[in-house]
Amino acid sequence: MRKLLMAGNWKMYKAAGETTAYFEKFLPLVTASSHADIVICAPYVNIPAAVAAAAGSRVEIGAQNVFWLQEGAYTGEISGPMLAGVGARWVIIGHSERRQYFHETDEAVLKRTQAALESGLRPIVCLGERLEEREGGGTEEALRAQFHGGLARLSEQQFTRVAIAYEPVWAIGTGKTATPEIATDAHRHLRGLIETRYGKQVAAQTRILYGGSVKADHTKGLMAQTEIDGALVGGASLDPVSFASIVNF
Ligand code: PEP
Repeated sequence: MRKLLMAGNWKMYKAAGETTAYFEKFLPLVTASSHADIVICAPYVNIPAAVAAAAGSRVEIGAQNVFWLQEGAYTGEISGPMLAGVGARWVIIGHSERRQYFHETDEAVLKRTQAALESGLRPIVCLGERLEEREGGGTEEALRAQFHGGLARLSEQQFTRVAIAYEPVWAIGTGKTATPEIATDAHRHLRGLIETRYGKQVAAQTRILYGGSVKADHTKGLMAQTEIDGALVGGASLDPVSFASIVNF
C-alpha cells in the first residue's frame, strides 16, 4: 500500500515573513492528517524559515531545484549538501517550468536526481507531455522518452527513493485539470515503464503524484483512483486553507 504524498510547490512566491504566517495557519489544519506525507517546497531563501516554522510538525520542507555538484565556482547555484544542511528533506526536479524556461534536459534531470540522492534528499521528479504531444497522440511516447532519457538510468536502489509527478504541461497553471481517467491512463503507462525497467515490486511501491491545476473541489475524484498516489500542487498550495483542504480532501 502506497502512502499518499501531498506536496505544495510555492514556485517564486512568498517572503520569509509570509512563510511563517502560512505555517501558523496551515499546521493546525493538518495535525491529524496522518493519511498522507505532507511537503512544502519553498523558494531557497525561505527554506530556513519554513523549516523553523514546521519544526515538530508532520510537515516536511523541500526545495524546487538542486545543482548536481557539491560545491565549486558555479555562481548562483545551490547544492544538495547546502539544502540538507538547512533542513530540507525533499526536492522537486525537472519541473516543466524549468524545462521550458531554463532548457532543463533529461540528462540534467538525471544528474540533479543523483546529486539529491547522494545528499539524502528525496526527489520528486516531474514529467509530462505538452499540449501538442497530447493532441498529436504522442503522450505515451513523450513520457517514455523522458523516463528513458533520465530516470531509467538510475540504479534500482536509487530509483526506490524517488517519487514521480505526472504533470501534463497543458494542465499546469492553466486551470485545466486532467480528468481522473486521463491521469490514470498516464500513471498506468508510467508504472508499466517502471515495471519493465525495475520489476513488479519496485513499480508497485513507486509513488506517482498527479500535478496540474489541482484544486480542493476535484481532489477527491483524483485521489479515488488507485493509480494516483498524491498530488503536486502549485497555485492552490499558496493559501494555507486551500492546501489543507486538498491534503484532507
Ligand atoms: C506545479 O507547480 O507543479 C503545478 C502543478 O502548478 P498548478 O497547480 O498551479 O497547476
